[in-house]
Amino acid sequence: MNDLILRDAKHLWHPFTWQGAAEPIPIERGEGAWLIQPDGTRILDGISSWWAVTHGHACPEISARIAAQLEKIHHVMFAGFTHAPAIELAERLLALLPENQTRVFYVDNGATAVEAALKIAIQGAANRGEKRTKFLALEGGYHGDTFGAMSVGARAAFTAPFADHLFETAWIDVPIQNPETSLHQIRAHLAEGNVAGFIFEPLVQGAGGMRIYPAEHLDALLTECRNAGVPTIADEVMTGFGRTGTMFASDRLRVKPDLICLSKGLTGGTLPMGAVTCTEELYQTFYTGDRMKAFFHGHTFSASPIACAAALASLDLFEAPACRQGMARIQARHRAFAPRLAAHSAVRDVRVLGTLLAFDVVPPGSSGESSYFHPVKDRLQSMFLERGILLRPLGNVLYILPPYCIADNELEQIETVILEVLNLV
Ligand code: PMP
Repeated sequence: MNDLILRDAKHLWHPFTWQGAAEPIPIERGEGAWLIQPDGTRILDGISSWWAVTHGHACPEISARIAAQLEKIHHVMFAGFTHAPAIELAERLLALLPENQTRVFYVDNGATAVEAALKIAIQGAANRGEKRTKFLALEGGYHGDTFGAMSVGARAAFTAPFADHLFETAWIDVPIQNPETSLHQIRAHLAEGNVAGFIFEPLVQGAGGMRIYPAEHLDALLTECRNAGVPTIADEVMTGFGRTGTMFASDRLRVKPDLICLSKGLTGGTLPMGAVTCTEELYQTFYTGDRMKAFFHGHTFSASPIACAAALASLDLFEAPACRQGMARIQARHRAFAPRLAAHSAVRDVRVLGTLLAFDVVPPGSSGESSYFHPVKDRLQSMFLERGILLRPLGNVLYILPPYCIADNELEQIETVILEVLNLV
């Protein structure tokens, strides 16, 4: 194991790392909610490995479907060619998504789903003869690390070196405490014109600190956009595939988004893949007799047949009773655990949405202010790892977002360790 760490240190560049960061932990295998190290040490995954592994690690049903697809074809260029897994996946996704969604554009991951959606919004307007350059976004949001995605995400340490290269975005307060303020802000920006689109993480901002906000407040903002003819983009990269208690967070909205970005749980966290879906109206502004109105955007691995096969297997699992029961069990446990957590003196603002439970950790004597670089983050993470649990706090925001196959006794193990660790902060 030490050999792997040394070889890794010699040549690899990990995301979000610096000299002095904890050494990476080698993982060899996975099984259900468990990550297994080369020496057999087991780590219980409380966050679905970057929120993606919905059905557990090395899920055999997805592996089998991928293996079967590998026997047939690995890569099909998606300009000028098509294949059954891509078609079937689009049909099945659209059957699950809000009814106004009729088209699926495949990409490689979450950030490229956002990039494609932003480009569709800009070019959609251009194809109708309008130049629109400004996006509206919720303050504190996160949409990925590519330039477009950074431009519509919170301006923070992550984006600071690139500030001069990011395009114009106007910020709307997350409609939690003062929804009227958010409404006034969006009305004012829409009245100024030049708005290409409004992007948001529906119901909960993930990387921004698991901030949950009510569907009806978002509906009010979406209504304003609809009335102004401005396309709305739901970034469901994290919220999609059951995380918020319904298949998509958009299911809870009365006003359906025009574009929806998907990734992470799309393939059950097995293979990199993303998708943008949109309305027929938007698609028809591109699909005309004028070639210059085409969407000149494509990725080498768009609609990878292997990734599509993985996604189809993942959807089969979502439809199986075991997954639905698992999600219901997780929600019930979260609701039961929330009051126990709330009673702890180092805990503030316990919040539950579907299979997500989040809260702020406020160590004794600290100001209570939340921040991604809160000093308690690394301490918490290493205390959990020492106890065989993977939880990765966002600053001082701690959350559980487990794979749906997690057993009750495994969740209980996570809860017990959280309470133990909270007594040590
Ligand atoms: N949007 C949201 C809401 C996300 O949470 C993330 C990733 N955490 C992304 C976009 C970017 O996805 P990816 O990491 O696959 O580029």
